Amino acid sequence: MALLTQSEEKYTEAYGPRLSYTPVGGWDTREPDKLVKTHCCFCGVQCGIQLKVKDNKVIGFEPREDFPVNRGKLCPKGVKRYMQNEHPDRLLNPLVRLESGGFREANWEEAFDKTTKEIQRIQNSFGKDSFAFLGGASMTNEKAYLNGKFARVALETANIDYNGRLCMVSAGAANKIAFGLDRAANPWSDIPKAKCIILSGTNLAECFPVLTQAIWEARDNGAKIIVIDPRITPIARTADLFLPVKPGRDSALANGILHLMIKNGWMDDAFVSEHTSGFGEASKVVEKFTPEYTEKITGVPRESIIQASEIWGTAETSMLLHARGIEHHTKGVENVLSYINLVLASGRIGKEGSGYGTITGQGNGQGGREHGQRCNQLPGGRDINNPQHRKDIADFWNVPEDAIPQEGLTACELIDAIEEGKIKGLLSISFNPLVSIPDSARVRKALEKLEYFGVIDFFLSETARHADVVFAGSLQEEDEGTVTTGEGRCVKLNRSITPPGNAMEDWRIICEIAKRLGKEELFSYEGTEQIFTEYTSASKGGPIDYSGMTWDRIEEEQGIFWPCPEPEHPGTPRLFEGGKFFHPDGRATFNAFDYRPPAEDVDPEYPIIFTTGRVVSQYLSGTQTRRIGSLVDQYPEPLCEIHPKLARKLGIEDKDLVKVASRRGEIVLPAQVTPTIRPDTVFIPYHWAGKKAANQLTNRALDPTSKIPEYKVCACKVEKVCGESDRYMKVEDAKPKWIFDRR
Ligand code: SF4
Repeated sequence: MALLTQSEEKYTEAYGPRLSYTPVGGWDTREPDKLVKTHCCFCGVQCGIQLKVKDNKVIGFEPREDFPVNRGKLCPKGVKRYMQNEHPDRLLNPLVRLESGGFREANWEEAFDKTTKEIQRIQNSFGKDSFAFLGGASMTNEKAYLNGKFARVALETANIDYNGRLCMVSAGAANKIAFGLDRAANPWSDIPKAKCIILSGTNLAECFPVLTQAIWEARDNGAKIIVIDPRITPIARTADLFLPVKPGRDSALANGILHLMIKNGWMDDAFVSEHTSGFGEASKVVEKFTPEYTEKITGVPRESIIQASEIWGTAETSMLLHARGIEHHTKGVENVLSYINLVLASGRIGKEGSGYGTITGQGNGQGGREHGQRCNQLPGGRDINNPQHRKDIADFWNVPEDAIPQEGLTACELIDAIEEGKIKGLLSISFNPLVSIPDSARVRKALEKLEYFGVIDFFLSETARHADVVFAGSLQEEDEGTVTTGEGRCVKLNRSITPPGNAMEDWRIICEIAKRLGKEELFSYEGTEQIFTEYTSASKGGPIDYSGMTWDRIEEEQGIFWPCPEPEHPGTPRLFEGGKFFHPDGRATFNAFDYRPPAEDVDPEYPIIFTTGRVVSQYLSGTQTRRIGSLVDQYPEPLCEIHPKLARKLGIEDKDLVKVASRRGEIVLPAQVTPTIRPDTVFIPYHWAGKKAANQLTNRALDPTSKIPEYKVCACKVEKVCGESDRYMKVEDAKPKWIFDRR
């Protein structure tokens, strides 16, 4: 049976797939067979939740009040997450592409056989590195480790990377440069103790919602909250001070604040001299960043810059938190380092109520970047280019050191290599690049060039529709394992149900392919706990050491913060205590940079700044949340936020249909006229596919260090297409029918 006809494929290309929706309401009141304590499958807060299970189905949830981070609270995504279980779109069998287009259901033997033969054919013809692997940061630590091992010793390819490359890598790279280690410095429990909090480039209340409570507790305790963002996001509405920075100018603003801290003596000189290096050079770089000069670059009024510097500079305790708003740039690493300078200058790090953290977007944004699925990384946070680290892992896996490939390409570079014909085959798991990588037209062309494309997923994502073979994998609740939250706490996910139909746990699929590639002895696991024991042992002695953890301990202690190098070690909630950093000299480093413009700035042809981000009811590429009816109801389609001043200038009114165009593509969607955005900038959320994809417009220019794309700033132009009352009649394809038909 063909699951998709050719006309269906054309529809998909235009609008994204027709999705099924879970019913709205209909709370299942039956007595569950069991309640399973686990964690939410979405963002890096990893809220505790109890899933109600009946007849091997998740039928609802109960609050889980024993987990200290959320204490029973959940955001809209967490409340509705159980509704993806038993979803009509759930893949129950492997799918194989038909020559005529579309898919037919297949058995596992056929899916594995076809995949193994294609891997061998491609690698025999074009070399090992011509076959690539893409992983994800929503998956467990166990799978992150397995992905890395599978690519290096089963596929024997250098080319493995993951979707965290689109997410936390600028923060990760900057953390290593500044501190010698990549992790949040403090547990979230330190936030309410801070007397000043800077939130820079983080739409915290929508992307990390439950953590808002900690910010509000701090405020109730007398903290001043400073929010830096081009939009007055929900958290900004409760801030003491809002700095409306122009997209792409973040490091300049941090330089301006540091300039005033130095000038006014709001520094901890003793801390700087005893625990840091590089301050002299940094102070020279920021010398010219007077309030006037900084205002000119950033668009932030000088009075606000002065006020922010004084609040931050004179605070008793403080926390700096940032996210993609400063990281999704061609100078993402520079931006993060510039903000870290403010923390180091204050000396307020490694102390109760004082420190620093990165808001991780994906559920395992932290753990997903630690265990070896990055192109330059081996387990335990080891460096693939470091001979000793390579030897450690080669010995652990019992393979020759030269059998471990060298550093491969990053995620966006892999897509380029596919387009250039250098990579011919790809296996991808829980990654939807067609929605999440910039310049989606180019990504689509690249995927169409692959000679073989295999996807492991639980729904048929937009990307999976280009696959030759789709393996029906597992949802979070259908497997067990660990994830590491945004604060560095490793927590345990418990299995609630077994995969439905003929679907299979992801790790079994990967191990089966490895066995068929002749590596059975290295991939014969009885269960996920065995993979956990292996990766924690592999991490021993590495920069990221989990070797003292066990599943029982993690459960009993409500998670353990790494490093935890011994069974008796209590874990390390607060890093850098006593001003001890992880560089060989024990010091943290200042790193300051002169301002440089974004890769694509505005010009007369494209005079408006375009930026992207999230909404509270959706999660990343929307594969899961666009299928949950009540989440779709909260924000059914992307809107273009535009300031009333700019709207007036362009003759646009609220709900008019507008066309937003960049040098790469265009999108037609309703305008949302709102005073909460800078008048020189428009914003579109990125969770949708096809003609609704914001990433048709974004620029794939990369940060030279982290290789993250510049999602947060490019140039665009905006014009009115038609008014609200005309829009459904005149522009039929602007709002596909399924939005209305779905119930
Ligand atoms: Fe899930 Fe994050 Fe919402 Fe918590 S805050 S319920 S982890 S999406």
